[in-house]
Amino acid sequence: FTRPAYTADDYAEGVLAGNRAVLGRAITLMESNAPKHIDMAQQVLQRLLPHSGKAIRVGITGVPGVGKSSFIEKFGCYLLEQGHKVAVLAVDPSSSISGGSILGDKTRMEQLSRDSRCFIRPSPAGTTLGGVARKTRESMLVCEAAGFDVMLIETVGVGQSETAVRSMVDFFLLLMLSGAGDELQGIKKGIMELADALVITKADGDNRLRAKTAQGEYERAMHYLQPATEGWTSHAFTCSALTGEGIPEIWGVIKKFRQITQASGVFEQHRRDQNVKWVHEMINDQLHERFIRHAGVKSIIAGIERQVADGVLPAVAATQRLLAAFDGLEA
Ligand code: GDP
Repeated sequence: FTRPAYTADDYAEGVLAGNRAVLGRAITLMESNAPKHIDMAQQVLQRLLPHSGKAIRVGITGVPGVGKSSFIEKFGCYLLEQGHKVAVLAVDPSSSISGGSILGDKTRMEQLSRDSRCFIRPSPAGTTLGGVARKTRESMLVCEAAGFDVMLIETVGVGQSETAVRSMVDFFLLLMLSGAGDELQGIKKGIMELADALVITKADGDNRLRAKTAQGEYERAMHYLQPATEGWTSHAFTCSALTGEGIPEIWGVIKKFRQITQASGVFEQHRRDQNVKWVHEMINDQLHERFIRHAGVKSIIAGIERQVADGVLPAVAATQRLLAAFDGLEA
């Protein structure tokens, strides 16, 4: 049994009608690396693009164990109660190594995953961050066209993936633990500068007071940072996915953010910049991909790398030789 081949119109119509089966297939198409699928995926996206873009896109990051999935479960359910349709997507470049993504895993968002107003998709597989991020971004556009109006894009706060997610969302939320040790301080500043809000998780029981203290400390620390978004001052908050305390306030902050940045034009300008930047990132990725697959480059690169490592060939000369090979010139 083979499924009848969908045309680009079939995909687009199904997605726009909110047909979940078609939505799932359309996203599978976006995630495919097969050349024939890439072409079809672009045709589908072309049709859907005019219908996408209406959602608020929220990135959520934090170290493993901070409570991302618990937060998304609680926050997502709250959004559904408020009448929203929520899509949860993920960027996890390590999923291809570990053989499965722990992000966006439905078993960790039990209540949310059972609700038909919510769509959850684990991280696509991929060998490069650029590849994974591209797939998630395109899936996001498809979900928007399907009528989901809040996008929650989850990523682990341990590498470059938060920068990739930052560049595809409007609002970036950093989840933090109270009493985080010194080992975390190193990554904090760089990531904190990307955050439109910082949330101390697990503010319940014995930990509630500690979380409030941490909130004050972070609030002071953030005072010295560049704003993540022009015209917006990032603040620290606390919340509990257990009790739900703080959850409505965080949605309030996101709504206020949208209101302020839409009024100032920053919201729209960000999206425009993100779109253009996206094109350049994909060109970088694809050129590099072509470069390392190029037969002429392949035949000489190992030798050149060895000479550079041995210190007998300067890096600049090596680069020139490799690029000349790529250009099909004799070097
Ligand atoms: P993730 O790895 O960032 O997705 O973190 P999880 O959502 O899986 O949470 C890690 C652990 O912290 C789990 O054992 C959760 O039960 C616990 N946890 C998450 N949120 C809360 C919370 O608000 N309060 C308490 N007390 N525990 C929490």
